[in-house]
Amino acid sequence: MEIACLDLEGVLIPEIWIAFSEKTGIEALKATTRDIPDYDELMTMRLAELDKAGLGLNEIQEVISTLSPLEGAADFLNWLRERFQVVILSDTFYEFAGPLMAQLGYPTLLCHKLTVDNTGRVTDYNLRQANPKRQAICAFKSLYYRTIATGDSYNDTTMLAEADAGILFSAPQNVIDEFPQFPAVHTYEDLKKEFVKASIRDLTV
Ligand SMILES: [Mg+2]
Repeated sequence: MEIACLDLEGVLIPEIWIAFSEKTGIEALKATTRDIPDYDELMTMRLAELDKAGLGLNEIQEVISTLSPLEGAADFLNWLRERFQVVILSDTFYEFAGPLMAQLGYPTLLCHKLTVDNTGRVTDYNLRQANPKRQAICAFKSLYYRTIATGDSYNDTTMLAEADAGILFSAPQNVIDEFPQFPAVHTYEDLKKEFVKASIRDLTV
């Protein structure tokens, strides 16, 4: 049995915080795990910036409701689900992902949760567990699933390393250079080919 584990932002949907930053003009919110690999440091900065601007979950959700999955993402996901069990392993939050998951047919999503007070202020974030993407792979392996994982950023690399096969999708050049052990592709057509290659079954694109 094989299970496909996908990162979400940058693989199937745009970077939510970047879209939010563009809409609000808050430059600091453009930073992602590509820029700040330490997720705690990144989230602490984001919550502080939201507070400084007096912005909360309602404003963020307004922006998210205007976003769509990346072009071709839904078709790619359908292709993948015909051939693999698929789980999305993300460092986003359930409060953010909802509208976009609806557009992707509600695939299984393991991610984090926000704490929001009754004024909409984001007061805290609750990580599902430490190193959640890698831990999910470890758990699937303990269930005797063979795992093939793909992601675009630093926070995916321990998942890619733990998986039976790891693929970089649409990663920036610094990540590709730092992790030359993973094949790196930039289109869904090439990503399909890598999944077929990584599978131990006789699949076709
Ligand atoms: Mg990503």
